[in-house]
Amino acid sequence: MRLFLALEPPDSLRERLGELADLAQARCGGRRMPDESLHLTLAFLGEVPEERVTALSAWVGERSIPSGEWRLDAWGTFRRPGIVWVGGREPDTALARLHGSLWDGLAAFGFNHRLEHFVPHVTLLRRARRLETRGLPTIDLAWPWRRFSLVRSFTENDGARYQTLARSPVA
Ligand code: NAP
Repeated sequence: MRLFLALEPPDSLRERLGELADLAQARCGGRRMPDESLHLTLAFLGEVPEERVTALSAWVGERSIPSGEWRLDAWGTFRRPGIVWVGGREPDTALARLHGSLWDGLAAFGFNHRLEHFVPHVTLLRRARRLETRGLPTIDLAWPWRRFSLVRSFTENDGARYQTLARSPVA
């Protein structure tokens, strides 16, 4: 199973991010992420054998994290997969610490694909035709977070879909 750890936005923020995705798509083209798929990836685990998923889910279900608030105030792009995203202008210390501590925990399961340069972002578009975010509205949004999720990613005819398998306790 293809898995990753993520923060899931509160509903009101998800809706706002969806509106931004619409605006971005009108300008840049590409494939808009469905509202229900909007997230911040903390750790991409890749393919995990099914027999390991139960233990991983149990770990997530017991692993509380401190709460925090992520400020979203920047548009960004990744050229290669044509991604248009929103994220923070400044590095976020709390998210960097969370990323590090989750990977420390994951090491006990034998996962070691920790990214050297973690760039927290919410992908809004994939395969955008234009990676031009000038002219898009200024953003200043707050994302309060208190728990993280274990998410499964799989493909359907019209693209990737996600399924939440476990959530950590609320901070
Ligand atoms: P995904 O590749 O499973 O990615 C899920 C999440 O993990 C996304 O937030 C993605 O970040 C992140 N991620 C993926 N690879 C990463 C890596 N090497 N390092 C760090 N983070 C990583 O699903 P998706 O991104 O929604 O789909 C992208 C493409 O992969 C689609 O074309 C889809 O068809 C294909 N896909 C293939 C499979 C498969 O089984 N082979 C399964 C699902 C999707 P970003 O948002 O920055 O990309």
